[in-house]
Amino acid sequence: MATLVIGGGVVGLSIAYGLLKQGREVIVIDGSDTDARASRGNFGLVWIQGKGLEAPPYASWSRQSAGLWKQFSDELKESTNIDVAFSQIGGVEYFTEIGALEQEAADLSGLREKLGGDYPFEMLDHAQLKKLVPEIGLKVAGGIFSPMDGHVNPLLLLRALTEAVKRLGGRLQTGHSVTSIEGADHSYSALLADGTRIDGDALVLAAGLGSAEHGEDLGFKAPVRAQQGQVLITEKLPFFLKYPSGRIRQVNEGGVQIGASKAETDSEATDLSTLQELARYAVDVFPLLEHVQLVRSWAALRVMSPDGLPIYQRSAKYAGAHFVTCHSGITLAAAHAGLLPEWIDGRNTAPDLTFFSESRFDV
Ligand SMILES: Cc1cc2nc3c(=O)[nH]c(=O)nc-3n(C[C@H](O)[C@H](O)[C@H](O)COP(=O)(O)OP(=O)(O)OC[C@H]3O[C@@H](n4cnc5c(N)ncnc54)[C@H](O)[C@@H]3O)c2cc1C
Repeated sequence: MATLVIGGGVVGLSIAYGLLKQGREVIVIDGSDTDARASRGNFGLVWIQGKGLEAPPYASWSRQSAGLWKQFSDELKESTNIDVAFSQIGGVEYFTEIGALEQEAADLSGLREKLGGDYPFEMLDHAQLKKLVPEIGLKVAGGIFSPMDGHVNPLLLLRALTEAVKRLGGRLQTGHSVTSIEGADHSYSALLADGTRIDGDALVLAAGLGSAEHGEDLGFKAPVRAQQGQVLITEKLPFFLKYPSGRIRQVNEGGVQIGASKAETDSEATDLSTLQELARYAVDVFPLLEHVQLVRSWAALRVMSPDGLPIYQRSAKYAGAHFVTCHSGITLAAAHAGLLPEWIDGRNTAPDLTFFSESRFDV
């Protein structure tokens, strides 16, 4: 019998890939093109700095994943011949206000202390940063360099994962929304809109925002909400930007990606004032962008838990059902592929993910 993975975004596919590598039979069921799909509209960062300031286990988990990313991308290349354009030479956060820079450095120092000292970063003033990134403008007060950060082409990642899942014998049922799930211990049936029924002996609910609809039936709270992010991309430019940042990066094809805003809405429409704000910030940081053409803008929806941290939850109702969600599915893809399958299998060697259970939302 197979493990049913509901959701074929980067989270579902990473887990499916990992489970297949462990020798499990896997069926991924992915919904329709009208679904929100964060995996197709994100910023592509494998990002550590600033994550888990208030939750050190999240900082450690993200970092563990970043540490696995090189091997993960090499493996995908070997099995699919798709190079996901992963680079991890460090990243820079730019600050236009000195106070905000100093505050961030103090927060990161606090986190470093909580983590026992192993959390590399460097605060750079304008002159120091200019040596590293000569193109910065006069409005940049300084920045924080972190050697842990990197980026990837998220669409190539999705394609590589899809291909890798197929090559390992995984079944992909795409364009089919699950309308209901019948569950019992180690026995699951996903019912599709066209009446098809797909059976499995285990289930992973990884349907992004779609998880909210099915969580309760399986014994989960699945408290996810949408948070909109808008992104801009410029025409292709000669390469000048070696280090990605949380809001500006040059993609492997040459365009400069600028983003992403944050708004508590489930609208997938862009608006001019948000895009202007993004563009203004980018020009403040890199004045050379002032006269380049913007070729595309879009909005996509993040999948957010109430506290922004991932949720890894075993069902208390039925044995063999798991719920997984997170708001940094690119960063965590390597851990989801490499380490989550052990947790799903309940092995002794699995990471301890108790911190990320839904019990933290009990009132
Ligand atoms: C603007 C923006 C920027 C981001 N930047 C980054 C970044 O730089 N780095 C990073 O790590 N993360 C980033 N993220 C977050 C990252 O994109 C998400 O964490 C990740 O894509 C979530 O993947 P997912 O598979 O959970 O969800 P999704 O990609 O939304 O996929 C869910 C899938 O489930 C399917 N589905 C839903 N309901 C059903 C159903 N009933 N039956 C069958 N299938 C169903 C849908 O069709 C969909 O394909 C960003 C997100 C946004 C929006």
